[in-house]
Amino acid sequence: MFFSRMLIPTLKENPAEAEAVSHILLFRAGMIRKLASGIYNYLPMGLRVLRKVERIVREEMNRAGAQEVLLPAVQPAELWQETGRWQIYGKELLRFKDRHGRDCCFGPTHEEVITDLVRKEVHSYRQLPLNLYQIQMKFRDEMRPRFGLIRGREFLMKDGYSFHVNEADAEACYQDMYAAYNRIFQRCGLRFKTVEADSGPIGGSFSHEFMVLAETGEDLLASCLACDYAANLEKAEVVPPATASGDAPAGSGPEEVATPDVRTVEEVAGFLNATPAEIIKTLIYETEKGPVAVLLRGDHEVNEVKVKNLLAVMDLTLAGAGRVQELTGGEVGFAGPFGLNLPIYADQAAAAMTTAVTGANKTGYHLVRVNPSRDIVMTQVADLRAITAQDPCPRCGGNIEILRGIEVGHIFKLGLKYSKALKATFLDEAGQEQFIYMGCYGIGVSRIVAAAIEQGHDGQGIVWPLALAPVQVGLVPISLNDQATKDAVFSLHDGLEKAGIEVLLDDRDERPGVKFKDCDLLGIPLRVVIGPKTLAAGQAEVRHRRSGETVMVPLGELLQYLQGCIRHELNEKG
Ligand code: ATP
Ligand code: MG
Repeated sequence: MFFSRMLIPTLKENPAEAEAVSHILLFRAGMIRKLASGIYNYLPMGLRVLRKVERIVREEMNRAGAQEVLLPAVQPAELWQETGRWQIYGKELLRFKDRHGRDCCFGPTHEEVITDLVRKEVHSYRQLPLNLYQIQMKFRDEMRPRFGLIRGREFLMKDGYSFHVNEADAEACYQDMYAAYNRIFQRCGLRFKTVEADSGPIGGSFSHEFMVLAETGEDLLASCLACDYAANLEKAEVVPPATASGDAPAGSGPEEVATPDVRTVEEVAGFLNATPAEIIKTLIYETEKGPVAVLLRGDHEVNEVKVKNLLAVMDLTLAGAGRVQELTGGEVGFAGPFGLNLPIYADQAAAAMTTAVTGANKTGYHLVRVNPSRDIVMTQVADLRAITAQDPCPRCGGNIEILRGIEVGHIFKLGLKYSKALKATFLDEAGQEQFIYMGCYGIGVSRIVAAAIEQGHDGQGIVWPLALAPVQVGLVPISLNDQATKDAVFSLHDGLEKAGIEVLLDDRDERPGVKFKDCDLLGIPLRVVIGPKTLAAGQAEVRHRRSGETVMVPLGELLQYLQGCIRHELNEKG
């Protein structure tokens, strides 16, 4: 490949609106260009990286026995109406009408389409199991597309779906996919963690996410320092407090005190000379089943996913100031659990307090010396808060650390959800009609490109894992005006290509400094520099992008040396 003939529009300046380092560097390295919000062009170097991710994903899926298909991006509304998701998917689903006025959508995911295919083609247990996947552009009209390829609206996904005669077979496939995913992210050269994920109100431990570890990640994970427990913060269980609820009621009952103009936990704590851990905050939520109150200790954060799962609701939003007043009789900041005509759900830590401060449902007043088990009528006590680094590991009691990650993969046990909705059945050995068990398995192919950069970059640019780099070797001549140098680099270029090494010869009419900078910006793992001086010594200078280490290699051994470096790095990742 010759730089002068390629479309690699590198830039010195950062794009104005980019926040994430991967977005900035993909842009500056001339790998992507924005067309519209969350919609990007992939330029040749960016596409090469994307294709490398795709190739690893494809190889490992095939190796695990999955078969590749390609399903349509445009889908008829009828299928989505059959599963009920046409109504509930919301605005992320891009809907439109064709020329005949028929409702359509651009696929954000393909459960409907694949289950429709399978219900038409599969009739007997003899045709199962089946594991089908595709690598295809999805469209989700994300509310906040951001961080470039990390949260786009149009993005490349590998989505796979498996079909089984029973639950045990579906679980075996889940384990195979779990192993395949671990291999995929290892081969991509990523530092990642596999975490238990929330699987909705149905529960079960059969959902895992694969998280690339990066400070800039949108997801929080809890990871045990002692055992291998790791979970998305949405899912991580909190161990109940040691103090049994109902212990030692602290003296006389609740007493009302005036707390003029103090509303937040901190203000109330300051005013009453208490700590946030001695306060109960009362959150009023609206749900599609009506409003509810949630009680938490003042120093704890609510975990809305846990609340949603407990209540089995889809919508959970904090009530606005007007509604709070209407439902509690007091202004925001003074809500409490007494005299409420609402179901009250208490986090286990709040319920276990023996003397607490709560709002009085009256503007300007709080109650002190509240003993929840004695004084509050609680509909249910449950684990409703987010785990913190102060909590013990729910498995082994060890210390927990909270990490940030970027979700690049998700495997999920679907059970009979879609086969029931779409009536996808088979005849078992006894000739009985049964619903097909399903699993689904997603990978954010384009998101991986960005995640690799979030994890691998320095002040000069991208530092790719070798397996994902757009090219393996950057070849930089010190001067093309020197005929001997020119001959040497062109013949080296051809020799490397013939040997199957991906090489980009920087044949532009630019100063060596400019070429070095672009080589670093593009993140090319191995840089080979040849000039009159190195030639005279019969050598080339090889620089390793990641370590910055420079070695002089005799020209006769260069090919072997580079092959060795490449093999070493690829093998190390499995
Ligand atoms: P998120 O919580 O990040 O929105 P999701 O749970 O909606 O992800 P899935 O429906 O499981 O994601 O999709 C499978 C994979 O596709 C995800 O693990 C993620 O890597 C990727 N992905 C999802 N949404 C986007 C997006 N807007 N842009 C790029 N990749 C995405
Ligand atoms: Mg999403």
